[in-house]
Amino acid sequence: MSELRWNPVLREWVVTATHRMERPQMPQDWCPFCPGSGRVPSDYDVYIYPNDFPTFSIPPPQADIEGTELFRTEKAVGVCEVVLYTPEHNSSLAQLPVDHIVKLIALWKSRYQELGNRPEIKYVLEFENKGEVIGVTMPHPHGQIYAFPFIPPKLRTELDSAAEYQRQKGRCLFCDIIQEEKTDRRRIIGQNNSFVAILPFYARFPYEVHIFSRRHLLSLSDFDDQHIEDLARILKFVLLKYDNLYGFSFPYMMLIHQSPTDGQDHDYYHFHIEFYPPYRSRTKLKYLASCESGAGTFINDSCPEEKAKELRNTRPLKIEEVECQS
Ligand SMILES: [Zn+2]
Ligand SMILES: [Zn+2]
Ligand SMILES: [Zn+2]
Repeated sequence: MSELRWNPVLREWVVTATHRMERPQMPQDWCPFCPGSGRVPSDYDVYIYPNDFPTFSIPPPQADIEGTELFRTEKAVGVCEVVLYTPEHNSSLAQLPVDHIVKLIALWKSRYQELGNRPEIKYVLEFENKGEVIGVTMPHPHGQIYAFPFIPPKLRTELDSAAEYQRQKGRCLFCDIIQEEKTDRRRIIGQNNSFVAILPFYARFPYEVHIFSRRHLLSLSDFDDQHIEDLARILKFVLLKYDNLYGFSFPYMMLIHQSPTDGQDHDYYHFHIEFYPPYRSRTKLKYLASCESGAGTFINDSCPEEKAKELRNTRPLKIEEVECQS
């Protein structure tokens, strides 16, 4: 079924989840996430739906194999949930009103806290895969939560970098990145009182955007009502720009990066959201090919300063509603 397998070469966990292969092909005319399906309440605004084929669970799924000293295994203990954004089947996060996105962020905050409080959970990863090109089979607007029994390696690297920077300079790495981006201004997409959206200097994808809290907040737990509302506005602002860039609903991966829930002190870390859209032009996709997959080095065949300008100049419809300044 499912277990963690240690890769001693890359020093990271791989999660096998063989039961996920048995996921049924959904009938074309039936959606379990729509009210009336019998699987969700007849009336909801945002809703946590248990993942029917979880990669992690408590108690953990049956392991396929026993480990050895070299080939270590661990139990795939954790939680996987689906976050339904709206009962409207043909909507998207970008199309939801700001006061509805506020409800979603409040739900992200409460799931982060509740799942993070479990002793087994070291990291709560809230994310969205959007679009068929990302492999999403369910069009109904939704995201996911993976509550991990370990800190995933990309987050581990970010934490280690920020901890070392703090030790050396006595300052937050991310606060310094935001400051330098604001001084430079070429890669700023927009900002409001609490957040700034940047196409970072070191972007891997042509339209990669990161949203940072302007204050040094570690996680959604640090957010008050004003932060939540400002995040809803800047999320919608970025997503409307994406959708208006080429005139179609823009696919992306969206990751919320926040403090781990492993009981340790991570004061040096800084809340942000990262978007990786796979499109590099109206018709062309960016593939993770040999250099990216086999060597870990991304080739970004575009100039972040030019792509940021392109996004800045994309006038989303209904921009007044989200009121962000470039
Ligand atoms: Zn639906
Ligand atoms: Zn900071
Ligand atoms: Zn990050």
